[in-house]
Amino acid sequence: MRELSDKHGRVATDLRVSLTDRCNLRCTYCMPAEGLDWQPGEEVLTDDEVVRLIGIAVERLGVREVRFTGGEPLLRRGLVDIVSRTARLTTADGAPPETSLTTNGLGLDKSAEALAEAGLTRVNVSLDTPDPETFATITRRDRWHDVAAGLEAAARAGLTPVKVNAVLLRDVNDAQAADLLSWCLERDYELRFIEQMPLDAQHAWSRAEMVTAKEIHERLSERFALTEVDEDRGSAPAEKFHVDGGPATVGIIASVTQPFCGACDRVRLTADGQVRNCLFARQESDLRALLRGGADDEEIAEAWLVAMRGKLPGHGIDDLSFLQPSRPMSAIGG
Ligand code: SAM
Ligand code: SF4
Repeated sequence: MRELSDKHGRVATDLRVSLTDRCNLRCTYCMPAEGLDWQPGEEVLTDDEVVRLIGIAVERLGVREVRFTGGEPLLRRGLVDIVSRTARLTTADGAPPETSLTTNGLGLDKSAEALAEAGLTRVNVSLDTPDPETFATITRRDRWHDVAAGLEAAARAGLTPVKVNAVLLRDVNDAQAADLLSWCLERDYELRFIEQMPLDAQHAWSRAEMVTAKEIHERLSERFALTEVDEDRGSAPAEKFHVDGGPATVGIIASVTQPFCGACDRVRLTADGQVRNCLFARQESDLRALLRGGADDEEIAEAWLVAMRGKLPGHGIDDLSFLQPSRPMSAIGG
């Protein structure tokens, strides 16, 4: 089997698939209050098209993990079917790919069971605060209790360990970091904080305003004893810490202040069928045009291999020449 390698020796085995750019929340660090101009329906890959591309990645190009994201992937009507068809594929190791979902959790209370039965392995639910009012301020929607219900349903359905992703915003929820960790520890959810990145549609991100990994560590250390987990991180972006001696852990992802680009094993497919070799890529490769133009699997695999070769060594957020990609995170797939 060939592999999705680049000129810097990295090999992509983790495919992030965006299933829609639409969302039912309006997180301030992601998109404006009025939402965005959503991709027109005919531009979005059909269920069959998306499964075909995932199949090429898994069965011809060495992909071992498939993570569904968006926008909000639970808004995709065919999600359960797409998961079940993905879980029936076979990787180079002869096993099915690991399948997971990054979601805001709205509606997960109703779909967790069906997703688990379809073969989904894990979920990451985004929740930035244990406080419903702060949640409404950040997401511009009063839906905290729905997310909490989604998390409970995920745990009941066995989609474990249930992971929670949080972004901290200065003077909004940064003072709640330790409260959020307590809340997650009580429920056995594995929490990971991620530094805010310049991927918002409004281009409002500011390096000076960003809450750094170092600050997150300091905030948590005011209440908990954190000791670094002694393990080879491999391509995992989170630096993990035992909380109060363990076994519980918390992760801190320093995407901006300590980039892990050198160990990156990801490749992304947008809902409209573009391959992106990096979240911050400024170029894409149009697999949808090939697909709809009648290309066979081998031709598509070749185009995918070429798309990966040009992956840049790093995102360069701190370079003076850094330019934010034209697509926001919600249209790339976080
Ligand atoms: N809607 C789903 C969700 O919120 O989990 C999936 C898509 S969302 C773009 C994926 C992840 O990206 C979420 O955990 C979200 O918090 C995170 N995210 C969005 N904008 C971000 C930004 N500017 N910096 C860092 N993380 C961001
Ligand atoms: Fe929606 Fe996720 Fe963006 Fe929030 S972070 S607006 S839930 S896509």
